[in-house]
Amino acid sequence: MNNLSKKEPFKIAVASGKGGTGKTTVSVNLQYFISKFWSEKVLLLDCDVEEPNDLIFFPESEITGNKEVHLLVPFIDTQKCTFCRKCVDWCEFNAIVVIPPVKFAQVNQSLCHSCGACIVACNNGAISENKVSIGEINNYKTQIGVGLTEGKLKIGSAMQTSVIKALKSEDFNNAEIIIYDAPPGTSCPVVTTVSDADFVVLVTEPTPFGVYDLSLTVDLLKEMNKTTGVIVNKSGLGNNEVYEYLEQNNIPILGAIPFNKNYASKYAQGNILKNILIETEDFYKEIISNIKKYIN
Ligand code: SF4
Ligand code: SF4
Repeated sequence: MNNLSKKEPFKIAVASGKGGTGKTTVSVNLQYFISKFWSEKVLLLDCDVEEPNDLIFFPESEITGNKEVHLLVPFIDTQKCTFCRKCVDWCEFNAIVVIPPVKFAQVNQSLCHSCGACIVACNNGAISENKVSIGEINNYKTQIGVGLTEGKLKIGSAMQTSVIKALKSEDFNNAEIIIYDAPPGTSCPVVTTVSDADFVVLVTEPTPFGVYDLSLTVDLLKEMNKTTGVIVNKSGLGNNEVYEYLEQNNIPILGAIPFNKNYASKYAQGNILKNILIETEDFYKEIISNIKKYIN
């Protein structure tokens, strides 16, 4: 049973405990095979905003939209500031430095979360807000589903979560299913990405490192109360530790994609439509039918 009749798109996040597990390849393939076997209205959302690379798979894509993402960052006018430090006390993110003896007052933009508390705190009208660009959102028409949308963090900005939030707040009403390609790891950008996902697909590989990183992500997702299943990528490599861990922890395996040198070199060429391998079709068919089982 699935809930695609709901107005809200069904959201599948694809995550992994670490980079290099093939998470992006799986995300792109899932979109391709979902469009073939489930719904043509499937959108791929590249939430790995620090290093978005889903686009590499679509060299014939066409950009259809571009939007800058801004944050309002406070600026302190030291001519009006009395260096009372009230704003420092109010800032929960330690983003303000005020040193009265040398009449220094400044906001650290990379720590500021644009909450506005300091502006409320200041009784001297010394703080105003400036619009600062932290990244962009790009929409692409591809030959799969309803295309690809990516968030791209501006180099030097530390505001991944703000770009991801802006990306996810776009209007995606033309999609029935959205695939979030999440950043790797277990940090705040991952939490922001999977927070509203209806189902989380974890991609892992059968190596001891894979098990450790997977267990960290599983713990995080348990705390977030997320429904999860695992795809074992490059199966046949490594050992059985991953399978034992999944069995002991009662985590369903959605499918296993065997390691094959051919797949690796084909995908490295990027163009998914020209290079997708028909041999992977059965694996993804099984994965999709397993995902459907977990949808209420
Ligand atoms: S609250 Fe206003 S006056 Fe006081 S230190 Fe901050 S900016 Fe300056
Ligand atoms: S807007 Fe919020 S986070 Fe940013 S400096 Fe002011 S109080 Fe701190």
